[in-house]
Amino acid sequence: MTELPPKPSRDELTERAARVRLLAFDVDGVLTDGGLYYGDGGEVMKRFDVKDGHGLVMARLAGLRTAILTARSSSIVEVRGRELGLAAVLQGRKNKAAGFRELLSQLEVSPEECAYMGDDVNDLGPLGMAGLSACPADAAAEVRQSVHYVARCRGGHGAARELVELCLRASGRWEATVQHMRDPDALQAVKL
Ligand SMILES: [Mg+2]
Repeated sequence: MTELPPKPSRDELTERAARVRLLAFDVDGVLTDGGLYYGDGGEVMKRFDVKDGHGLVMARLAGLRTAILTARSSSIVEVRGRELGLAAVLQGRKNKAAGFRELLSQLEVSPEECAYMGDDVNDLGPLGMAGLSACPADAAAEVRQSVHYVARCRGGHGAARELVELCLRASGRWEATVQHMRDPDALQAVKL
């Protein structure tokens, strides 16, 4: 059995989170609870969490870029990605390690500057490369063991927002972003 690295200390986690410029997320089981709803014509619905969505918008306001990397393909994800103003939506990437490299080169970001959140064993490739790897509380055991950060929230129930908050707090941008949400006119006075 391969020896797994110990979880980083709070200080190391903060250091890793402060370096993040791109937040990338798997979709099923991370931005959703993993449920796939099928109709006669195929996949018709997924359930996204509005608080996660808001978290992604806050990340963008604070100057971080956000992206989706998923093995599946659906127009629902394209629509949600547009709504949230994501920098990239990479779908149908069965080989997620290759998809992750493609994402980094497309957005010209180094692996150290990227946080990736995934929930299952097919995410282990990008999770092993990202400067900050994270998973929802209900991720597969192998994933929970290997990441830097296991969220307290489950997939589709606030895990993504938790990662955004971790990164914004680490880089000292959380309070300013919340302040901006409270009063957008005050943005000029607040350095995000
Ligand atoms: Mg997944």
